[in-house]
Amino acid sequence: MASRLIYTYQNTFHNRPEKIFMAPCRINLIGEHTDYNYGLALPAAISKYIAAAVGKRNDRKIHLKSLNKRYDVEVDLDSISNSIENGWGNYPLGIFWVLQKRGHKLPFGLNIVYQSNVPIASGLSSSAALLNLTAFIASTMYDIPLKPEEIALLAHQSETEFNGLQCGVMDEFAIALGKKDKCILLDCKDNSFEYKDIDFKDYSLAVIVSNVRRNLVVSPYNTRVEECKKAVELLKPHFNIQSLSDLKVSDLEKCKEIIGDDVIYRRVRHIVSENQRVRDFVESSKNGDVNKMADILNKSHESLRDDYEVTGEYLDYIHEISLKYGALGERMTGAGFGGSSIALIKKSEFETFKEKVSRDYDHKFGIDPLIFLADICDGLIVKNL
Ligand code: ADP
Ligand code: MG
Repeated sequence: MASRLIYTYQNTFHNRPEKIFMAPCRINLIGEHTDYNYGLALPAAISKYIAAAVGKRNDRKIHLKSLNKRYDVEVDLDSISNSIENGWGNYPLGIFWVLQKRGHKLPFGLNIVYQSNVPIASGLSSSAALLNLTAFIASTMYDIPLKPEEIALLAHQSETEFNGLQCGVMDEFAIALGKKDKCILLDCKDNSFEYKDIDFKDYSLAVIVSNVRRNLVVSPYNTRVEECKKAVELLKPHFNIQSLSDLKVSDLEKCKEIIGDDVIYRRVRHIVSENQRVRDFVESSKNGDVNKMADILNKSHESLRDDYEVTGEYLDYIHEISLKYGALGERMTGAGFGGSSIALIKKSEFETFKEKVSRDYDHKFGIDPLIFLADICDGLIVKNL
């Protein structure tokens, strides 16, 4: 990756980059759509990366190039705004906008060339990878010391305030806090986290990318956020809660009576049961109970399909055929509406699984899915040149 980046940087700017930065993407094992409800999630960084070659400029311009995009974006640090002309550049630019909004003086511009093998808009969080990477670049180049969790919060502020997605912090934390072979048990109530060893015995996690693209800002993502807010308003007079994640499974019966509306109730049921599934999943892993873990993954998919309604026909079909071809458990991962899934599969059966799932999926939709084994890895990396 690095050699093509350096070559492109030199060809474009006629000098050498100073540093190379890298950020992985993420999967989420369990705890979906819980983050913006201040609940629990269990993500992990995986080794598909976005990398960047970076150098200082003598003026105040930010020049952005991506080897995954056909056009460059160049904007003056003093006039950053979210605009249609900036296209993909609106993601990285938000970081410089937030830093200046926070009162940081950014004394010079930057040249940045990105290159990524993360599937884009596919539920593995290429957006948070790009944002965390750019936040890390800015903190390093402008000498603003930030801990990994502060990088995550900067990236999150940028995605919500500048890009307009009312997302939770899970994606950003998963990437900034990534650790080799560890999952991150994240409590979005106070952003506290704990590393967990999750032992799948002789099973591995396969990632299945549906290759159906979607745009979250115009998808029902923000609608789900609004539905959850509405439910909190309805329930607050009856329960001592700040968010849906303060509710227990045993509260659901009473919630149903209070809410009345079936759709809103089912959204609540997903969030409350999903938080419980995160706890149960961690507990089952402690007991080495892979069958129970797999069952929890399946229950999560069913809840996201039937109650939260974010899976869609592509991910539902992948769920169905994955179970048919040997997965012990399978669920969509990430926001849904297309995107990706994870499947627990015996290592020795992976190649056959991949072939059969790809064949059936291609027959049905005429799309070749991307299927690979998840390799859980460290978070942000910088190298001096
Ligand atoms: P996801 O985070 O699931 O991959 P999003 O819709 O949240 O999907 O974010 C995708 C957006 O992030 C893209 O449309 C693009 O604007 C930006 N992006 C991600 N990776 C790159 C890249 N390598 N180069 C340029 N833009 C990128
Ligand atoms: Mg995203």
